Amino acid sequence: MAVQTDVKKYQNYINGEWVSSSTNQVDASINPANKNEIVGYVQKSAKEDLDLAVAAAKSAQAQWKKLSGAARGQFLYKVADELEKRLDDIAETMTREMGKTLLEAKGETARGVAILRYYAGEGMRKIGDVIPSTDSEALMFTSRVPLGVVGVITPWNFPVAIPVWKMAPAIVYGNTVVLKPAQETAVTAAKVIEAFGAAGLPAGVVNMVTGPGSVIGQGIIDHPDIAAVTFTGSDIVGKLVGQGALARGAKYQLEMGGKNPVIVAADADLDVAVEQTINGAFKSTGQKCTATSRAIIMSEVYEVFKEKLLAKVKEIKVGNGLNPDTWMGPCSSESQLNTVLSYIEKGVAEGAALLTGGKRMDDGELSNGFYVEPTVFENVRPDSIIAQEEIFGPVLALIKVDTLEEALNIANDVKFGLSASIFTQNIGNMLSFIDEMDAGLVRINAESAGVELQAPFGGMKQSSSHSREQGQAAMEFFTAVKTVFVKS
Ligand code: NAD
Repeated sequence: MAVQTDVKKYQNYINGEWVSSSTNQVDASINPANKNEIVGYVQKSAKEDLDLAVAAAKSAQAQWKKLSGAARGQFLYKVADELEKRLDDIAETMTREMGKTLLEAKGETARGVAILRYYAGEGMRKIGDVIPSTDSEALMFTSRVPLGVVGVITPWNFPVAIPVWKMAPAIVYGNTVVLKPAQETAVTAAKVIEAFGAAGLPAGVVNMVTGPGSVIGQGIIDHPDIAAVTFTGSDIVGKLVGQGALARGAKYQLEMGGKNPVIVAADADLDVAVEQTINGAFKSTGQKCTATSRAIIMSEVYEVFKEKLLAKVKEIKVGNGLNPDTWMGPCSSESQLNTVLSYIEKGVAEGAALLTGGKRMDDGELSNGFYVEPTVFENVRPDSIIAQEEIFGPVLALIKVDTLEEALNIANDVKFGLSASIFTQNIGNMLSFIDEMDAGLVRINAESAGVELQAPFGGMKQSSSHSREQGQAAMEFFTAVKTVFVKS
């Protein structure tokens, strides 16, 4: 590959320094709205580079763990300020690198700032309990200690929020970090790491190595000096991470895919249901783990819901995410576009009826990008491929049902269990849904995507390894409990 000299090369961040990889090779990060634009070059690193980063993180951890949580939190406040200063530039880079609209990219970066401030404060919270001993001359209590070096493996769809919501709790609880971001969004990741560097964190507390998942990701899974691996991405890779970490006794955390349903009850406010279903299915081009991909609708309101939904879907403005009037950007890459198109073909082949969308968009200014129409199917069999597999694109399947029981059975009859919504005014429906729905995030009269940073986040079934991220729940993963018994 001939490297364009006017395009910036981003380096690895190891032991407080920006360094090139030992391979001297780079990958180009491409703008999915314009495949001729290279956003930046990122290092295509080798195992040796990872080893250097892990050694730096291991050495730094010996001192970092001795600081109080409050002192570590002070660093996070500074990182938050540095990220905030860079918000506009990082958001624009994100839009160029993976296509989401600038409004969404700014919202995500602002979320990153808020997460850092939240965990800065968490550094001052209690990390243990006093437990009464049966021995009146003894003191018994729990304390929490850091794990050591944490390997952080992240996907491209939230290139600021996901790395930050893993790294912030990892370091505030006394661990040090080696981040391997998705190669597709490694320029955005480098700019986030610049904010950590500018905040004056001790060298080695945060490190970043970019490169292929099969080399750097696998290297993290296998590395004997990495005590814990936190992963977000596809279920296929997640299973590799879990098996590999388990085999060498490392702690692991997996957040993976979803096939998230919304149920529209007969008494739903249909305008709210339509608006929230569209937000969940098509924002970020459907590339959210919590995106809505199935709408399960009661027969009494099916036709009205469908007509209202289609009218609005047809109004969605697709284009370059940098244009202020764009509502939905491109797929994040050519391979992602091809995956979505192949699922649409499978839907048609399985006999589902295409109500709108279904085609690549490549007219005029869209011709150099990876655009697909917002797509809605009906007559989708609940056991068909497009109703079972995660598509990760702007494709919604409508399924008609006669009872809430049938709706819940269909909603639960997939291997995933991440997020789910119901639209209803009836408290009985709400309670049945809360009780019966197998999902880590259960939402009522709200879109399936949407998470508050102070609440636990994670899935059931094959969506997750069943630990929780975010909020105080993150302490469970990023620390180990010590039970202390002191006899006078
Ligand atoms: P992916 O699994 O392809 O990649 C995720 C990360 O794993 C990347 O950094 C990648 O380089 C790395 N990787 C790839 N092969 C590896 C290997 N053999 N060993 C170790 N690491 C390897 O996922 P993606 O395409 O980047 O992201 C989309 C997926 O992420 C979707 O399935 C989506 O549902 C999921 N996701 C889940 C959540 C959640 O919190 N549940 C959030 C966002 C995205």
